[in-house]
Amino acid sequence: MNLTFDIGLGQTQEQEKVYDLVVIGSGPAGLSAALYGGRAHLDTLVLTGSAVGGQIATTYEVENYPGFPDGLTGPELMENIKKQAENFGAVIKVETVTAVDFSQRPFHLTGLSGAYQARAVIITTGASARKLDVPGEKEFTGRGVSYCATCDGWFFQDKDVIVVGGGDSAMEEALFLTKYARQVTVVHRRDALRAGATLQKRAFANEKIAFMWDTVVTEILGEGHVQAVRVKNKRTGEEQEYPIDGVFVFIGHLPNTKLFEGQLEMDEQGYLVTDAYMATSVKGVWAAGEVSDPVFRQVITSAGMGAAAAIQAQRWLDEQEESEG
Ligand code: NAP
Repeated sequence: MNLTFDIGLGQTQEQEKVYDLVVIGSGPAGLSAALYGGRAHLDTLVLTGSAVGGQIATTYEVENYPGFPDGLTGPELMENIKKQAENFGAVIKVETVTAVDFSQRPFHLTGLSGAYQARAVIITTGASARKLDVPGEKEFTGRGVSYCATCDGWFFQDKDVIVVGGGDSAMEEALFLTKYARQVTVVHRRDALRAGATLQKRAFANEKIAFMWDTVVTEILGEGHVQAVRVKNKRTGEEQEYPIDGVFVFIGHLPNTKLFEGQLEMDEQGYLVTDAYMATSVKGVWAAGEVSDPVFRQVITSAGMGAAAAIQAQRWLDEQEESEG
């Protein structure tokens, strides 16, 4: 039986309901885990985080997901995987998990709007954009400072923007921003890009993209919205104020693992430590996608990890049932 009752503060607890599998997060890893969980007839609940789809849902074009030779948008891909998971019976709930207790079984999870119990958990909370950590960044986030060109590029039609970073993300997003901006200046802390050869070539060939080498942003300035950045040349030590309308930051990611501190093993950068079977340091808890992968970080690899974690969860749950029965 599935009773829902008020536990105060507008929260409800799905009393007596113990899900076979709760997936935390809804990017490619989470929704693929849900698809495999549902298809294995596990009673599967996905707690999505504040929005469905994860980082890729904010990506304009996905060109490298197998099976789509003409590419598709990030939201389209995630909507398709979500539908597929739901077709196999997975329940997808927009919910932010605020606490977990992996010390007892079934595992207990608390969210902003309810509490949940699970026999097995797959963590797919992904990673978030690394911040510059300079004065003005926080103040002007959403007012000229952005971490998502697909989300905010449109606001910079015929404006001048900078892109901070020299990796694949920075080049991809700089190229995307040229659809809107008058000029895109890439500000990179070294004199060579980290991005792969193809993206480098495309960025260098684009006449709307300029480069500011060996340079770091030390402050973001403006009144009400971004109007300039203070930049410093690392070789000469020279500083200047550079007028600009927007600052797009793509300097890597940090894993979203704060929730699991003290309960699961992590590496020195905060990524969850897993074995080759996606198992974390607690039996019955798996991790997949960027939360445990600082290396590949691709939709296809995350989706594969999610599927593998769900297969392992199903095997483990079967073993548990056998040993209990
Ligand atoms: P990344 O490869 O780690 O690059 C981060 C960039 O930001 C580097 O150029 C780094 O400079 C710079 N940086 C880091 N901290 C900084 C700071 N505090 N101030 C200024 N600059 C800073 O991150 P990413 O571009 O997000 O890519 C992550 C992974 O996803 C990579 O493996 C990438 O290949 C993959 N990816 C692939 C694609 C694709 O295949 N189409 C697209 C996006 C991402 P240094 O170079 O000096 O370290």
